Amino acid sequence: MNEEREKEEEAVEKRELIKDGKRLDGRGFEELRPIKIEVGVLKRADGSCYFELGENKVIAAVYGPKEMHPRHAQDAKMAVVKFRYNMAPFSVDDRKRPGPDRRSVEVSKVSREAFEPVIMREFYPKAAIEVYVEILQSDAGTRTAGINAASVALADAGIPMKDLVSSVAVGKIDGQVVLDLNGTEDNHGEADMPIAMVARTNTITLLQMDGHLTAEEFGRGLKLAMGACRQIYELQRAALIERFSSSSNSGSKSEKRGE
Ligand code: ADP
Repeated sequence: MNEEREKEEEAVEKRELIKDGKRLDGRGFEELRPIKIEVGVLKRADGSCYFELGENKVIAAVYGPKEMHPRHAQDAKMAVVKFRYNMAPFSVDDRKRPGPDRRSVEVSKVSREAFEPVIMREFYPKAAIEVYVEILQSDAGTRTAGINAASVALADAGIPMKDLVSSVAVGKIDGQVVLDLNGTEDNHGEADMPIAMVARTNTITLLQMDGHLTAEEFGRGLKLAMGACRQIYELQRAALIERFSSSSNSGSKSEKRGE
C-alpha cells in the first residue's frame, strides 16, 4: 500500500474527510476532479467517447438510428432509446461479478430517462438508438461520467438532440456540501446526489439522492451542480468542436486538469 493511501485510510478511520479546509485528495469543496474527453475512439460504433473523471474511466458507444428489433417493441411514432450501463469485473476493488445486477439495471434506466427529453426521437419512428456505457475503472460518480460520455457519443453519432446533457454529483462530507465525491467520500460521507441537466437552460433530467440533506443544503448543492455542469458542458462542446474541425479521423482530446 502506498503512503498516500495509508494516510487516507488513517484519516477515514478518524472520520476526517476534510482537513484545513481541503478534502483528502487536496480539492476545495467546489472543485471537480480532473476531466479528460476523447471523441471518436471506437471505429465500429457510429459514435463513441472516452471520458475520465478523476480515477473513473468510462467508454460510451452509440449505434443507430437503426431498425428496432424485436418489431413488437417498436414505437410507431418515435425511436426507442436503449441504454446499457455496465461495470467491468476489473473496475472495482474486488472483482465484480460480470453481468447485469439490480444496480446496473437502475443506473441504465435513469440514464436513459436523462436523455429522453433531449433526443429528437420523433425524427426516427420505429427505430432504435442504442447507447452502451462501459465502466473500466470506478471511483464514485460513474453514472455521471457515463452520462457525460454518452452525451458526447450521441453527438458524435450525429443523433439530433436539443442540447448536450451534462452530469455531476454533489454530496455532504463532514457536514459540508461538496462537489463531485470520490470513492472514499462516497463511502464515508453523509449524502450523495447525482444530477444530470441541460446546462444551458438548467433543465434537470436526472436527480437522485442517497442520504440526507436539509432543504438549504439541497439548494446549495443544486447551485453547485449547475455551475459544474456548465463547466462540463464547455469541455464536451470543446471536444466535439475539436473532433469535427480536425481533418484526421483519429479522434480528439480535451482535458481539464484540477485547478
Ligand atoms: P456511482 O458510481 O454513480 O457513484 P454508486 O453511488 O452506486 O454509483 O457507487 C459508488 C461507487 O461504489 C462506484 O463508483 C464504485 O466504485 C463502487 N461500487 C458500486 N457498485 C459496486 C460493486 N458491485 N462492487 C464494488 N464496488 C462497487
